[in-house]
Amino acid sequence: MINTQKTKTPMPHQDAKLRINNFDEVALGYTVQQAQNEALRCLSCKNSPCTTGCPVNVDIKKFISQIVEGDFESAYQTIAKTNCLPAVCGRVCPQEIQCESKCVCGIKGQPVAIGRLERFVADWHAQRQTTQTSTCTKQKIAVVGSGPSGLACAGDLARLGYQVTVFEALHVLGGVLAYGIPQFRLPKEIVENEVENLKKLGVEFQTNVVIGKLFDVDELKNQGYSAIYLATGAGLPKFMNIPGEGLSGVYSANEYLTRINLMKAYLENSTTPILKGKKVCVVGGGNVAMDAARSALRMGSEVHVVYRRGEQELPARKEEIEHGKEEGLIFDFLTNPVKILGKDGFVVGMECVKMQLGQPDASGRRRPEEIPQSNFVIDCDLVIMALGTSPNPLLKNSTPNLQTDKWGCIVVDQNGQTSMENVYAGGDATTGSATVILAMSQGKLVAKSIDEKLKNQ
Ligand code: FAD
Ligand code: SF4
Repeated sequence: MINTQKTKTPMPHQDAKLRINNFDEVALGYTVQQAQNEALRCLSCKNSPCTTGCPVNVDIKKFISQIVEGDFESAYQTIAKTNCLPAVCGRVCPQEIQCESKCVCGIKGQPVAIGRLERFVADWHAQRQTTQTSTCTKQKIAVVGSGPSGLACAGDLARLGYQVTVFEALHVLGGVLAYGIPQFRLPKEIVENEVENLKKLGVEFQTNVVIGKLFDVDELKNQGYSAIYLATGAGLPKFMNIPGEGLSGVYSANEYLTRINLMKAYLENSTTPILKGKKVCVVGGGNVAMDAARSALRMGSEVHVVYRRGEQELPARKEEIEHGKEEGLIFDFLTNPVKILGKDGFVVGMECVKMQLGQPDASGRRRPEEIPQSNFVIDCDLVIMALGTSPNPLLKNSTPNLQTDKWGCIVVDQNGQTSMENVYAGGDATTGSATVILAMSQGKLVAKSIDEKLKNQ
């Protein structure tokens, strides 16, 4: 039996009017009936085009057919073969440009809601999971950074029997999943659950340890670690270098989101200092910009998303843009800041110019060009810069033999090996800001590379 419905089974949501007053999860997840109804839309295409769209090649056709059969645990095991963080990926992967973009149903209607089904299966499993354990007797491995890349690598190595220690600079584990992506999109319990599972597998975690400060990569080797995986992400925010960026009331999105997510500034009794702002301008159009803007809405501000290209070019996940619109974000497209205006050291406005789109640039998107003498001022008292990030130079500066490129990204070969013997790297630290699934897939690749290398030594 096939469900011939042309559109995705709607996802239950918290009402937009209610949710802008809280940080609870927006999308509530499919029920069993909704998941099976959606799974029945899958045509079971012979060549599984959707799987080719997934960076870790989840066997999508198989897990969807297992949902139809009501065998949700087998569906979970099918996904878990290649994806160790399905509850996260089901929520944050940009499915519309990955798996769902290849779905045949998308030609004449909407694609099958693969991400929502993945989330359903992962959540179902999480409520019933049994503890997986392993015996870790092989060599000691150090993983630096506990984001999705570090966690994926640590998990695979522990399952192979290695003694893994993850060193994390912050006091909380999970990298961007913990300090960046807000609770209303990715509840922190999901990340904590993944970390707990790794602990049960035997992975040891040390928080508040900054590698490059407390001890460096060579010292880790001297402590007996046979291989080291550097998964330190890209946490250094970029600014525009325009006048006024030093005023009080200008935040990087990373700082703003860290205060809100990690330091819980959104809680009523929180002692974390944060400027709230009556009218906030968020500069940028990616996921980070949407997260900062939707967080500012929930902090009670009127929020403008200022983006130099048009709506078509917004790089954020489609679902986040739609949710942001429903919640009342105001989009100022084809607008670029040139100066932040201040009074007595505080932000009072942002001078912008209007833009128009010219020929496509290297990214394939049409290049924004300034319209002469189109300057105007947006009155605002908070500006959040969400312009992308690059790797923190701390590791590079403390590790002279570690080769990096002109953007500060660690250079690796096809196995994830750096310029240093038995030192590997992956995730945003090697690519610059990318996606959870790519960071995770590189962590898994390096786990395989380390195992191959150590087995043969
Ligand atoms: P990270 O997640 O950055 O983790 C690196 C970890 O290393 C951090 O915990 C850091 O504290 C630690 N560390 C750094 N230096 C050291 C050191 N010297 N010693 C010890 N520890 C160190 N991607 C998506 O696919 N979908 C989305 O919807 C999405 N939304 C995003 C929203 C925001 C706000 C942000 C910031 C990013 C978003 N991304 C999204 C991108 C995605 O989160 C990243 O690509 C991914 O987290 C990278 O994983 P990673 O493990 O390489 O690094
Ligand atoms: Fe799609 Fe991401 Fe799941 Fe792959 S991991 S099937 S890209 S949602």
